[in-house]
Amino acid sequence: MRKLELLRPDWPAPGTILAASTTRGGGCSKEEFAGLNMALHVGDMENSVRRNRELAAGAFAPDADYQWLQQVHGSKPAIVFQAGEAPEADSLITSTPGMVLCVLTADCLPIFVCNRAGNEAAIIHAGWRGMSAGIIENTLTTMQSEPKDLLIWLGPAILSCHYETGDDVRESFLDRATDTHEKKQLDSAFTPLEKPGKYHTNLTQIARIKLFRLGAKTISGGTHCTHCDATRFYSHRRDGPCGRMANLICINKVS
Ligand SMILES: [Zn+2]
Repeated sequence: MRKLELLRPDWPAPGTILAASTTRGGGCSKEEFAGLNMALHVGDMENSVRRNRELAAGAFAPDADYQWLQQVHGSKPAIVFQAGEAPEADSLITSTPGMVLCVLTADCLPIFVCNRAGNEAAIIHAGWRGMSAGIIENTLTTMQSEPKDLLIWLGPAILSCHYETGDDVRESFLDRATDTHEKKQLDSAFTPLEKPGKYHTNLTQIARIKLFRLGAKTISGGTHCTHCDATRFYSHRRDGPCGRMANLICINKVS
C-alpha cells in the first residue's frame, strides 16, 4: 500500500482552519478504485471504503465528526450544526468547530471556503451543472461572512487542458449571465476547438469569475488537473467508473 498523501491548500487560512484533499495515495481499494477511494456510491466494496475513510480521518482529524453529502449537481447549500444524515445538496456551510465538511470529486471542482476570522467554513461541489445553476452564488449568500472576508482555494479538478464540452455547456452559462459583461467574461472560459461546437472549458476560470463578481478577493489554487495526474487523482473523464477524492474542511475545536 502506498503512503497516504493529503494535499493541503496553499492559502493564507487562519490557524483554526484545517483543510485537505485526499489523493489516491494509501488506502486499500483495488482495480479501478485502487488506492484511497472515499466514495460508497461508486461500486467499490463497502468495507474498503469504510477502512479508507478511517485511514483518512486518522491523518486529517481523528476526533472530529464527518458530514457527508448526497451530491446532485444542483444549486442548494446545506447549513450544518451537527453531523448527521447526508443532506441532498451541493455545498456545506458550518460555524461549528470539530465538524469536517466533506465533498467527493473526481473531475468536478471542489471549492474550499473559510473566513479570515476562522470561525466559518464551507465546501462546494462545483461541476458545470451546479455552477451554471448557481451553487457558488447560493453558498456565498447563505454564509454569514461577507464575501470580501472570505479566503478561497480551488482544489484538484479537470482543467481546460483536458475538459472538452459542447455548445450546451457554453450556452447554459451564457444564457444565465446577468449582464453583457458577465456574458463576455464567461465566454472567455470557452476556447473553440477545430471541431465545430466543441470547446476546451475552463471550470476554474468560471469559478473565479463568479467568486469575484460576488465580492470575493482572495482566491488561490486551481493548479491540479485530475486528468493529467493518474498517480494522485481519480478522473471520471479519463477512467470511466472510478473512485473519488474527499475534500475536507474543518474549524478546529479550541482545546
Ligand atoms: Zn489536464
